[in-house]
Amino acid sequence: MNITQLARRLRVTPEELRAKLPELGFDIGQKALKIPDRDAGRIMYAWREYKKRQYLEKKRDEQRARAERKERVKSGDAEQVMLPSTMSVREFAEHMNLPIAKVMQELMRQGILASLNERIDFDTAAIVAEDLGFLAQPLEGSADGSDEEVQRLEAVMSAEDEADLVQRPPVIVVMGHVDHGKTKLLDAVRKTNVVDSERGGITQHIGAYQVERNDHLMTFIDTPGHEAFTVMRSRGAKVADIAILVVAADDGIQPQTKEAIDIIKASKLPFVVAINKIDVAGANVERVKGQLAEVNFVPEDWGGKTICVPMSAKTGENVDQLLDMLVLVADLAKDDIRANPDRLAIGTIIESHVDKGEGAVATVLVQTGELKVGDAVGLRGVNYGKVRAMRTWDGQTVKTAAPSTPVKILGLKDAPSVGDILEVPENPKSLEKVKFKHSTKSGVAEISVKKTVSVDDDEDEKPVLNVIVKADVLGSLEAVIGMIEKIDNPYVDVKVVAKGLGNVTDADMLRAEAAEARVYAFNVRLTGTAETLARDKDLSFERFEIIYRLHEDMEERVKALVPKEKVYTELGSLRVLAVFGKLEKGVVIGGQVLKGTIERGAVARVIREEKILGEGLIETLQAGKVDVKDVEQGQECGIGFTTKTKVEVGDTLEIYKEEEIERK
Ligand code: GDP
Repeated sequence: MNITQLARRLRVTPEELRAKLPELGFDIGQKALKIPDRDAGRIMYAWREYKKRQYLEKKRDEQRARAERKERVKSGDAEQVMLPSTMSVREFAEHMNLPIAKVMQELMRQGILASLNERIDFDTAAIVAEDLGFLAQPLEGSADGSDEEVQRLEAVMSAEDEADLVQRPPVIVVMGHVDHGKTKLLDAVRKTNVVDSERGGITQHIGAYQVERNDHLMTFIDTPGHEAFTVMRSRGAKVADIAILVVAADDGIQPQTKEAIDIIKASKLPFVVAINKIDVAGANVERVKGQLAEVNFVPEDWGGKTICVPMSAKTGENVDQLLDMLVLVADLAKDDIRANPDRLAIGTIIESHVDKGEGAVATVLVQTGELKVGDAVGLRGVNYGKVRAMRTWDGQTVKTAAPSTPVKILGLKDAPSVGDILEVPENPKSLEKVKFKHSTKSGVAEISVKKTVSVDDDEDEKPVLNVIVKADVLGSLEAVIGMIEKIDNPYVDVKVVAKGLGNVTDADMLRAEAAEARVYAFNVRLTGTAETLARDKDLSFERFEIIYRLHEDMEERVKALVPKEKVYTELGSLRVLAVFGKLEKGVVIGGQVLKGTIERGAVARVIREEKILGEGLIETLQAGKVDVKDVEQGQECGIGFTTKTKVEVGDTLEIYKEEEIERK
């Protein structure tokens, strides 16, 4: 093979290749133009190994540099950067005066796939900033974790004139450990609301619904788990007025129950405990009450203040009582459950996706004011379009939405993020105009995933296992991500293209499709539509509840991606004694084995006067007119030789066996 050819294959200049070869143990001389093919194979192999070493060294250097930067941050030597409580990736980069690409790359390294305009919170930014050698400090006024819009919302709400405030339905959120019956409870509650035939729309999952009990209207956030709540809380938003803490009577307080309890305590949220599954054989209500008392949630009948409702979401027993208790709690907190319906609306996004037919669709929970069809809406100061149409959870088309009403809105230019604050500005012209590039075709707003996943642009492109991780709580998400970071395979990279809390939604699946990623649902499930979507499109996903099982699965997938190693073994050589005739794709030749053994299926190089003319395959092999598998030294044989090369009498065939073996 020509050295230039080989260099091209290895994607280097011939000079570089020549210079590097002695180091790799090949002495071909500085002037050589050709390399025997046998050596070429070995060189290619050695080169790949060399590049791999280089790649690993580069990684190690990066790690070292990162550690050094961290050390500088620790010792207080690092440059300080003041950051707000939330910011877009672009703003984040601007704060540090770094190129956006670099910041995005660092974010991705942390498993955060955010587009330019996507918002990240202070905590995330601080970690990434540290890795980039900056010491992040919260900007004044944002240290309480709430950002400007949330603060504005709160300011607006607290500045309202008492006289303008009217009662609004309480907003209720359901929390508790996985499988304790949150979803079922939400279903059971929804069923108590008999939609009369006159209204008769089709019930839709829009992230929230409303129920009436004895003339009291209540709004339920329909995302079980603390997903929505956590996201909103991370921005400091106060969306819910009351929590239902679900505890299964047969299982008692579990880790996520504890987490929910902490959230309830921290946010001083009024709450009711639903001791669920009392219909189950192992149910023990008293035991649960004892556990509640231990965390200072002393039940009423134990002399405390905690309202407990033993119930069954399955049989429907005591669901009414639960609703009565919620009405009661709402009444006790009624001063906090008020809003001014006579102003421009402000609300929080509780669900959002891009629909193939309808475009960007979002559910907003109106918190103050009245949202009207035709309103121009802004999110984060950006013009997000106009409300074209509004629909309630039971399929009614409405023109206006009062406080505490969840409505699905159409007409947005892009899908906002859950937890975003939507505002109808007094002066729509004040809103920043931004072009949204979003593809309704794929249904995902940001599908830059594929291009951006492989940051470490190695020459021999490593296969990448893209994964999306959804988990129930932050703790378990971090555990999974931590585990992934420890997977260290020299031949395959694992990239977390997205991660988050809560059930796997359609949006996750669409993202998985775009990134060709496998979705890992840890302690969470798939929403019904997400599951259908996944099955329709044959997307890869799996649910896990035990982290080492997830680990095993991931290891297996990684292993499956490890490229097979090609190994060439020299078998022997043969002198061509006769060329009998042409085949469709080759010739029939006769020859004698000079050394070694010749096997059917082996590859052979045609050599004439020490030059390699080409290659071929020993398709058939005969000795004495009998088909054989191999022929040994000294024997004569006939070969059906598939090749493009013109073989002549006197040529030598060098025979190799090419094998693909699994790497260890
Ligand atoms: P989540 O993970 O908290 O949303 O739990 P689910 O609502 O999905 O319930 C988990 C499992 O428990 C499901 O199989 C439900 O059918 C079942 N389940 C929920 N509530 C009850 C109940 O009151 N009684 C019984 N027997 N099973 C229930």
